[in-house]
Amino acid sequence: MAQEENLPFNEKYTLSPYKLTYRRSIGDAENFWREQAESLDWIKPFSKVLDESNPPFYRWFPDGLINITQNALDRHVKTWKKNKAALIWESETGESKTLTYGQLFNEVNRFAKTLHDLGVKKGDRILTYLPLMPELPVTLLAAARIGAVHSVVFSGFSQQAIADRINDAKAKVVVTTDYTVRRGKKIPLKQVVDEALKQAPSVEKVIVVKRPHFEDTQMKEGRDVYYHELVSKTGYKKVDPEETSSTDPLFILYTSGTTGKPKGIYHLHGGYGLWTYLTTKWVFDLHDDDVFFNTADIGWITGHSYIVYGPLQAGATTLMYEGVPDYPNPDKWWDLIEKYGVTVFYTSPTAIRALMKYGDEWPKMHDLSNLRILGSVGEPINPEAWRWYSRNIGNNELPIVDTWWQTETGGIMISATPGLGNYMLKPSANGLPLPGVDADVINESGEKANAREKGYIVIRRPWPGMLAGVWGDPDRYISTYWSKFQGIYYPGDYAVRDEDGFFFILGRADEVLKIAGHRIGTREIEDVLISFPGVAESAVIGVPDPVRGEVAVAAVVLKQGYQPSEDLKKQILSHIRNNLGSLVIMKDIYFVTKLPKTRSGKIMRRLIRSVLSGQQTGDTTTLEDETSLDELKRVISEFE
Ligand code: ATP
Ligand code: MG
Repeated sequence: MAQEENLPFNEKYTLSPYKLTYRRSIGDAENFWREQAESLDWIKPFSKVLDESNPPFYRWFPDGLINITQNALDRHVKTWKKNKAALIWESETGESKTLTYGQLFNEVNRFAKTLHDLGVKKGDRILTYLPLMPELPVTLLAAARIGAVHSVVFSGFSQQAIADRINDAKAKVVVTTDYTVRRGKKIPLKQVVDEALKQAPSVEKVIVVKRPHFEDTQMKEGRDVYYHELVSKTGYKKVDPEETSSTDPLFILYTSGTTGKPKGIYHLHGGYGLWTYLTTKWVFDLHDDDVFFNTADIGWITGHSYIVYGPLQAGATTLMYEGVPDYPNPDKWWDLIEKYGVTVFYTSPTAIRALMKYGDEWPKMHDLSNLRILGSVGEPINPEAWRWYSRNIGNNELPIVDTWWQTETGGIMISATPGLGNYMLKPSANGLPLPGVDADVINESGEKANAREKGYIVIRRPWPGMLAGVWGDPDRYISTYWSKFQGIYYPGDYAVRDEDGFFFILGRADEVLKIAGHRIGTREIEDVLISFPGVAESAVIGVPDPVRGEVAVAAVVLKQGYQPSEDLKKQILSHIRNNLGSLVIMKDIYFVTKLPKTRSGKIMRRLIRSVLSGQQTGDTTTLEDETSLDELKRVISEFE
């Protein structure tokens, strides 16, 4: 690799498997997808690759029968992998467990049979309100095995969010547990479900996983049953996977709610299965001896695709941890990496920014030398955070794959692809599109943008991992994703591409600032803000201005040891001018102690905008911490 470093980018990948694969995936798409899909096990092979008869409701491998659990489990238990660790779990409580593929297979079969005996049928919806514990992936796989549709609700959400999701999906069964833990405190879960169910009448059964040291849970006669009692009655049973069609729904999952009311996205067995399988291999390059640690929660798509379905289909070992990264100390993740010999690590910029604040000494205490590849997802990663991650976790030599994708895309769309020999990275770039991803940047009038001209990222043709729709709302599917540009998928992100074809995501399309006619992504200003020594985090939004159309304001969180002051504000403002020129007019800076974020850690700029304009805040069900909004209101009103 060292020698390659000196080659111009274009030449570097001329002969790489990436380039050849990409070229073929676009030039000979039908045969390419046919061959890729044939690498999975099918109950009945497909004859047709893509049904395009009812756009934008594209359906992949429509006449094939496939059940994703067959590729995640059955396929491996037939081989030596039966005794290989599939899932390693640890919890802040001190509990831990390793399940081999054989054990996971048995557990999933038992619970699948149990669900079946309870009357759950193909197409029924099962909702989970579980923390990261083995029963969560087991429930997902058991549901999928009998053709039921799962819907995971993140275990930090409120009763209202649960009730809304149950009602939207008309779920019949809820699986939960008595409590989870957070920083040494027990957080009740079953109780929250009980409250939610008062407004969610479709639920017939609640299955409760009993944890060690559980506190008595009120069990409602006839409705509530313990998981362990049910499965011990079932005993060991092998359940043949339901003969689901490639186009049968696998799950419904709500988006993070960063830009508005969450959307209930649903995905299908065949296309989603293939896409998570391929992208796991292409991006994370997993081999038989890899241990993959993804710090996301299964409540988000990242956990669905890259804790559960991708790594298991690839036959890897997947590690999950119940707890926060900075408790009891800010080296919990580094400790896990050392302890289990993690080789591929995947996390988010928000987590990196949080861990950076504790300094370099925490990762230094650990042997991280098994690591091979690092990844990032969820938001643009600021250069400051990238450098810290690279230096402290990657020893300045590991590739960091900055993976751009969405709940809607099912899996990674733009990234470096070490599994295809493409390790090329550029500062701040996400990378090149994955095979089959016909990504482009276009301007407002739909024309292809020139190199370095900013615009909207779009995907010009269907890909297997694409969403099947918005659950129960086909019009929202069409209007959100397929209407801004006719016949082209519109993700809603703002981006630029350089001469080498590298994509840089610059922020959300609806948060782009237009200052004196010039468009600038929130990221471009935030990257500069965070490069100022005292700034830990920032969020930029645009406010109307009579002369320039719009000007910028920022909410800024300072690093420990820095105090808000007029002088500091002046220094930050001049730092912006020095780096971005006079074009970017920064009207104000508000110092706060925390930014409003979703529970998955993404900055909710729309909330800052609504506080500033005195308007309704809209949907706040996914807001992590209500007090962040109160603080903003206070700071802004003091200012005025
Ligand atoms: P909602 O759609 O409800 O507003 P959301 O878009 O945050 O919420 P997700 O599907 O969880 O819901 O997130 C996808 C979005 O996250 C992408 O559209 C993009 O804006 C951002 N994103 C994800 N990964 C990256 C990345 N590597 N670089 C830049 N942005 C990213
Ligand atoms: Mg989105």
